[in-house]
Amino acid sequence: MSDILIRAKSLSVGFPIGSGLFSKQILKAVDDVSLDIEKGSVFGLVGESGSGKTTLGRALLKAVPITGGGAHYSDGEVEYDLENITKNQLKDYRKRAQLIFQDPYAALSPRMTVRDIIAEPLEVMGLTKTRQETDKRVREIAAKCRLNLEHLRRFPHAFSGGQRQRISIARALVSAPNFIVADESVAALDVSIQADVLNLLKQIQSDMGVTFMFISHDLSVVAHTCDHVAVMYLGRLVETAPTRKLFEAARHPYTRALFSAIPSLDPDDRGAVQKLTGEIPSPTNQPSGCKFHTRCPHAIDHCKQVEPQLEIDGAGHAVSCHRWKELMATQAA
Ligand code: SF4
Repeated sequence: MSDILIRAKSLSVGFPIGSGLFSKQILKAVDDVSLDIEKGSVFGLVGESGSGKTTLGRALLKAVPITGGGAHYSDGEVEYDLENITKNQLKDYRKRAQLIFQDPYAALSPRMTVRDIIAEPLEVMGLTKTRQETDKRVREIAAKCRLNLEHLRRFPHAFSGGQRQRISIARALVSAPNFIVADESVAALDVSIQADVLNLLKQIQSDMGVTFMFISHDLSVVAHTCDHVAVMYLGRLVETAPTRKLFEAARHPYTRALFSAIPSLDPDDRGAVQKLTGEIPSPTNQPSGCKFHTRCPHAIDHCKQVEPQLEIDGAGHAVSCHRWKELMATQAA
C-alpha cells in the first residue's frame, strides 16, 4: 500500500432522481470502480461527456457522497477511509486534496485581486498566522506558476485564458496538497495555450511530487501528460493501463474508437478507423450486458446478455470486453 496514494474499491456514486416520496430511482453516475493511484504519478481519466469521470474525480475529493464501496487515502502522514471520513478528518483532507476547475473564466472571482484569490484557501483553512506569512507563501506559489509580483495586484479580467488557468493552479497548490484533480483543465483554452499549461502541470508534478488525476475527453492530451490511463464508459471502467501500453495496443473497442478520433499528421495514415456512432445511453436507462453493446460494431448476442468483467494481465493492463483477444488477433492477421 505504501506507493499507493488513493485506492478505490468497488466505488459507486448514485443520485436519487424523480420527485415524490416514493420515488426510488437512482442515477448511477459511477458504478463499481476499483483503481489505484500511485504517489507522485499523473493518472488520466478519459471518456465522453456523461461517462462519469467528473463525478469519480469529485468522489475522490469527497465533494460528492460515496454511496457504495469506498476509497482509501494514505500519504504516509495520515490515512482516511473517504466513505466514512469524519468532519475533522474532512477538514484536514481539504488541505491535502484540491481541484483545478475546467473554466478559468468562471472559477475566479472578478472582485478579488490575484493575490487575494491565491491567499483565500490559506486564510479559510487557517494555514498561515500573519499577513506576511500569507504573502510569502502566495509569492512562492505564484513564482512556481510563472506569475510575477505585478500580476498579484491585478484583477482576473486583465488576464488571458492561459494566465487565468495559471492563477487557478496557484490557488489549488497554495495549501501544499498531495493530490490534485485537474478536471478538463485545458479544454477551454486555445490549442497553442494548452501545451503551455500542460507543461506547467508536468513541471509542478516533478518539482513538488504532487499526485494528479487528470480528467479529459481528449486522449491526445492524456498521452502528453499521464503515466497511467483509465477509460470510463457509462460509469464503469472499461480499460486501464500504463499510458505507453494503452497507446501501443488499446484492447477495448470503445478505447480504439476514441483513438481514431485523434487526427493524424500523416495524410496516408488512415489506421484501423472505428468511428463512434450514436450517443452515450442515459445512465437512468442503462443497456443490459455490456454497456457499450448499443454502439459497438463487434457486439454479439452474448454481449447483450452478460456484462464483461475487468480482466487484468501481469503488466497492469485491464480490459472488460468478451471479445478483445479475438478482435486483437483479427487485427494482427
Ligand atoms: Fe463490444 Fe461485446 Fe466487447 Fe462489449 S463485450 S465491447 S459489445 S465486443
